[in-house]
Amino acid sequence: MRVAVFPGSFDPIHIGHVDMIQRALPLFDQIIIGIGVNSQKKYLFPVETRKSWIEEIFSNEKKICVITYQGLTIDFCKQHHANFILRGLRTSADFEFERAIAQMNQALHRDIETVFLIANPSLSMISSSIVRDILLHRGDVAQFVPEEIEDRVMLNEDRE
Ligand code: ADP
Repeated sequence: MRVAVFPGSFDPIHIGHVDMIQRALPLFDQIIIGIGVNSQKKYLFPVETRKSWIEEIFSNEKKICVITYQGLTIDFCKQHHANFILRGLRTSADFEFERAIAQMNQALHRDIETVFLIANPSLSMISSSIVRDILLHRGDVAQFVPEEIEDRVMLNEDRE
């Protein structure tokens, strides 16, 4: 079984994430979308909201499940018998950052491979942090988030 963890904050999930997940689906038997919860970090949307949005978007996809976790991604992978970590590369800055983490993870656990997909060029400028920034200033993010959740993201009622 090829099980991959796609870790991130997904605060909120956007169409760049969705594209990555859809492209990765044929490569794996199961994709666990892991929402990492770091108690030191401040989020815009509560973790349960972020989780339910992702579950709704992929409700018809049997290969996908969404699980929240604390601690090291590598430990989360071991716990769920995942042998791959999936990450997206948008820029060379992403690459430098991801390279060190992937190599450290490799040193910690040889059996878990990090697999990178290059971002879709038409979506590579999208990041959750810019989406959050636009929301904080009451801008329109409809074109950057999946249609299913657009109204609720824009309503912003669920913000922490
Ligand atoms: P983090 O909290 O680690 O920044 P995110 O929730 O922003 O994570 O993203 C999770 C994963 O999705 C990361 O591997 C990131 O590179 C990837 N990703 C984010 N935005 C895009 C995009 N526009 N295109 C492709 N991959 C992306």
